[in-house]
Amino acid sequence: MDFVAEEEKTEDYLFKIVLVGDSAVGKSNLLARFARDEFYPNSKSTIGVEFQTQKVHIDGKEIKAQIWDTAGQERFRAVTSAYYRGAVGALLVYDISRRQTFDSIGRWLNELQSKNHAHSDMNVVTILVGNKSDLRDAREVSIAEGKSLAEAQGLFFMETSALDSSNVAAAFQTVVKEIYNILSKKVM
Ligand code: GDP
Ligand code: MG
Repeated sequence: MDFVAEEEKTEDYLFKIVLVGDSAVGKSNLLARFARDEFYPNSKSTIGVEFQTQKVHIDGKEIKAQIWDTAGQERFRAVTSAYYRGAVGALLVYDISRRQTFDSIGRWLNELQSKNHAHSDMNVVTILVGNKSDLRDAREVSIAEGKSLAEAQGLFFMETSALDSSNVAAAFQTVVKEIYNILSKKVM
């Protein structure tokens, strides 16, 4: 009789992570860059997918990040509770070349926290993301302002560029790693 070594049971981790922020800040392109290494110069909300699952490796464990993207409803501030439900992580995105999108962050953060709270016993691990860092000449929000808002709200912070790939994977991985750290402490 053949002996078949019992495969080591690998735990399954699936984290729901949501992209939040004003229209056209680059949410869909951050996801496209992270999940498919693609960029759309003239993307419209049509490239918005419901969610995309991307594997992330931490401590030799495979974690599935299920990343949700809005499909244009954020334009009307009509993101439903279903979108936030069960999310354990979030990327709160603004465009460093449009101050207005930075000014909206407080409202998005409130919405994320209030609409998620009813469904979760854990704070949503959130990173504030200043996207389009490649647009140096058009910058309207300084790095210091981003950092200081993030510190005040207890968020991680990074500037990214979906165009040149800078920090895109790092931003998603920061969130996944922190969620993993929190959850693995909880079960101990
Ligand atoms: P969303 O509405 O937040 O999903 O934003 P999109 O991903 O659709 O991007 C809106 C526009 O910004 C598109 O024309 C993108 O090509 C552009 N864009 C997205 N990310 C970047 C970036 O990092 N740098 C630059 N220069 N443009 C970007
Ligand atoms: Mg989009």
